[in-house]
Amino acid sequence: MAIVIGLDIGTSGIRTQAIELETKKVLSTAITLRHPLPGSNVIDHLDFCLNNGRDVGHDIVVRAVDSVIRSLDVEPGQVERIAACGNPIQMSIFQNIEIRDLAFGGENTLKRLGLTRPERKTAILDAGKIGLESVKPSTQVCIPPAVAHMIGADAIAMIFKSGMLDRRETALVTDYGTNAEIGLKVGDEIYTGSAAAGPAIEGQEIGKGMLASPGAISDINAIDGELSITVLDNAMMGQRAYALNPKTWRITRRGADYVEPKGLTGTGTIALAYTGMKAGFIKLPKIATADSKIHLFNGEIDFNEKDLCEVGKAFGAFRAGHLTLLNHVGLKMSDIQTAYMAGAGGTYVDPIKAQGVGLVPPNVKDIYQVGNTSLAFACDIAKDLSVIDDAQDIADRLKGTHVLFPVEEAFKNAYICELGFWEGISMDDYKMFLSMYQLPEYPECTVTPNIHKVVVRDIPNLGSKGLHIVRDIGTTMTAAFDKCTGCLSCEKACIEKALKVEGDKDGGFTATIRTEYCDGVACKKCAAACPDKVYDYSKFVVKGS
Ligand code: SF4
Ligand code: SF4
Repeated sequence: MAIVIGLDIGTSGIRTQAIELETKKVLSTAITLRHPLPGSNVIDHLDFCLNNGRDVGHDIVVRAVDSVIRSLDVEPGQVERIAACGNPIQMSIFQNIEIRDLAFGGENTLKRLGLTRPERKTAILDAGKIGLESVKPSTQVCIPPAVAHMIGADAIAMIFKSGMLDRRETALVTDYGTNAEIGLKVGDEIYTGSAAAGPAIEGQEIGKGMLASPGAISDINAIDGELSITVLDNAMMGQRAYALNPKTWRITRRGADYVEPKGLTGTGTIALAYTGMKAGFIKLPKIATADSKIHLFNGEIDFNEKDLCEVGKAFGAFRAGHLTLLNHVGLKMSDIQTAYMAGAGGTYVDPIKAQGVGLVPPNVKDIYQVGNTSLAFACDIAKDLSVIDDAQDIADRLKGTHVLFPVEEAFKNAYICELGFWEGISMDDYKMFLSMYQLPEYPECTVTPNIHKVVVRDIPNLGSKGLHIVRDIGTTMTAAFDKCTGCLSCEKACIEKALKVEGDKDGGFTATIRTEYCDGVACKKCAAACPDKVYDYSKFVVKGS
């Protein structure tokens, strides 16, 4: 039996599916709950590879992909092909090709540094060349092309799989992930852009946040003076788990399908922000409760003003991106008739709540929730290699219409307006600032859209063997520092519990970091805590490499 594998390397984790080639049936699905590299966004991952070495980053990612493929429970010798999809940073790290050009946007800077940007066209390689050990070395690894250095195969997947190419009206597609990828279709042209939205959109960088996985609070509704809390079950279906009194924060009743919550996912934060603002216990930028916190479960899952600030920064990037693309083509918000929502966030969220917090343009007639298009597209390529040619065609078509947000003045101005909104300026002032910056106006929402839930889960078919969650990716890196006294100050400073310092057989000390739990460049509290300044984060190497 020949097997093919679809592989999505996302900024928040890895998702794979094994498919029987002849019948095209999905056999199994395996996912991680975190990305194996330190950090929680693409910039952190890029920074880690630049500082610790591209080979080190590549090694960590490849070992993690091996670990997920092994969890698919298929015979390694039967795997004929793997098709991978992701943004240019993730794909470049996976392939172990040049990444420095992704850190420096301008062509002049590249020239000055003597860097040549790789073409990032379609690539078909051997698994052995990439370093994969979970399949035979001759297994084909197919990488679809990127559109530009900032927008990759995952954006092509979003445009291709959403169905927007088959429609005539002005439409917007958005992948609600840590990297906000956006496509705007106007006539036959498609304009694309991407912004680093930040991890809060997926439930990360929030005290009690988590990715969409079993036990995640995925929706919150105000019903009859109570808050009804929805939690994802083991099949990733939302269950009305329990109800809360929003004054005492006590659980008033449990549903028949009670699922114990473990944290708040991105869709849960969208629901919380929307419901909180409507019910009045969130008054931007404050949480208007006695202790400035929202207590979602027995004092174990709380949401505070720092979390609200992270949420605002993430949500604002999406609306700023939408405004920037519209501004670029000279359209108004009200010109968009259809919105497509992709990714886990776009699938599980209540679209009306997403629209209420500015993540979907007001007054669209239709909203389609289309699932994890990146994994679906990777599976399409795995099943039929000719799909990769379609991807190249779309990439070639999109090259001339890509809008580079980091250098667009409109994006900078729109994001300033968003920060102002989440800092508590009134809607009238927000609109006044948009007008001052000559950005598209933001109308009142007067149209109730038709909702089309195209898929029930972000991964609609988990296969006959079901879903396997790789909770411990297991990649570690170690370092031994001269003159380390073993005082453990660095270990104690690590609130993520990613770091351990132990005595070794030579009488010295070895520091070990579990990479998936490490916050990387945004943190480095370990280094700062070392009293003798001997700790050096850049000295870590992947264990066993
Ligand atoms: S303290 Fe160090 S090891 Fe711990 S999360 Fe921060 S950077 Fe990673
Ligand atoms: S804080 Fe510095 S001296 Fe202390 S254990 Fe860590 S690396 Fe060694």
